[in-house]
Amino acid sequence: MIKTPFLSKEKANEIIKKYPTPFHIYDEKGIRQNAENMKKAFSWNKGFKEYFAVKATPNPFLINILREYGCGCDCSSATELMLAKAIGATGDDIMFSSNDTPIDEFKYCNELGGIINLDDITHIDAVEKACGALPKKMSCRYNPGGVFQITNSIMDNPGNAKYGMTGAQIFEAFKIMKEKGVEEFGIHSFLCSNTVTNKYYPTLAKLLFQLAVNLRDKLDVNITFINLSGGVGIPYTPDQEPNDIIEIGQGVRDVYEEILVPAGMGNISIYTEMGRFMMGPYGALITTAINEKHTHKEYIGVDACAANLMRPAIYGAYHHITVLGKENERPTHVYDITGSLCENCDKFAINRRLPEIKIGDILYIHDTGAHGFSMGYNYNGKLRSAELLLCENGDVKLIRRAETPKDYFSTFDCFDIYKNLISE
Ligand SMILES: *Cc1c(COP(=O)(O)O)cnc(C)c1O
Repeated sequence: MIKTPFLSKEKANEIIKKYPTPFHIYDEKGIRQNAENMKKAFSWNKGFKEYFAVKATPNPFLINILREYGCGCDCSSATELMLAKAIGATGDDIMFSSNDTPIDEFKYCNELGGIINLDDITHIDAVEKACGALPKKMSCRYNPGGVFQITNSIMDNPGNAKYGMTGAQIFEAFKIMKEKGVEEFGIHSFLCSNTVTNKYYPTLAKLLFQLAVNLRDKLDVNITFINLSGGVGIPYTPDQEPNDIIEIGQGVRDVYEEILVPAGMGNISIYTEMGRFMMGPYGALITTAINEKHTHKEYIGVDACAANLMRPAIYGAYHHITVLGKENERPTHVYDITGSLCENCDKFAINRRLPEIKIGDILYIHDTGAHGFSMGYNYNGKLRSAELLLCENGDVKLIRRAETPKDYFSTFDCFDIYKNLISE
């Protein structure tokens, strides 16, 4: 598939007059179309709900768009819970899928009425202590161990993952929770990340549906929801085929009808916690080429760096790059596209074939809508960029301002040195 930017060079130039690069920009139209499809894909399931993984793109304006399609918030920390609360997502609109959880955060989630999804059996006691009693509705996270395979290919290695309970533990946990008054149970599992295959959710669903039947048969527990979590991926590289969410929904439906319906469990709600799939393709990092360097390799230095998008630096992840206005030019050059951090891994691309880049050219780094801005940091004194929304009507809205040095130094504001730091 040819990867096309949702922004033209002309539009980018117009935006840059008001908001200098670098910035992340999101495409409202794309977000809405995708959310609509996602809803359609699971419309066969009466209780279906997507809990958007807040950590992927923790921007209230963007999450509010998803709220219009019935999405709740999947939170993993106190501040993410605060964000959910601020946009009116409380009660069953919150899924708290945390791990290594500080006990106060269980208490806070419970106060908001959110659903606590336990990562570990020891947290039954923690929640009881934090909340006085166990909530009536709770969930447990399952980790089958071993390797996760789809047909014959190994997708990931849950046996090495820190998350979730073993099979034996989840049986034990449900038994204890039932004794302690839990009335509605859920099962959650997240076994592979960024899967680009329509078979991931159906394969996972089959595993969880069978587990649900076994848990019900053995413990007579009332399982009301199964949470397939995140992991539905996007095609970062041009050669990958995008997932078809309609086919994924149908695949889950097939196993639902094969396993749950005959077991008399046809009322179970399907939940998801997609982050990447919901936002990833609908965000881009826009950056300007500010330096070129010709040494042992050909370098183009841009005004963004790994502090704006760390996936290439830490995972070696591929992000497609388009030189705006040169979409149809031949890729005659081979470049490393670098940021300015004092870290050699600060490269958005290595040995990338691109058209000739001139200083001042605008680079569009694709698929930064999830796990992009949110993973940002301040190393080398770098400031976080603005986030913008390209609205359906073509307007551009600021949805997070860029950090200023004052923000960067703000945690010194209780010290005398502060006034020197911000005197400019
Ligand atoms: C990160 C995460 C998600 C979202 O994952 P994606 O790959 O972005 O879909 C969902 N649930 C949990 C518990 C997570 O940690």
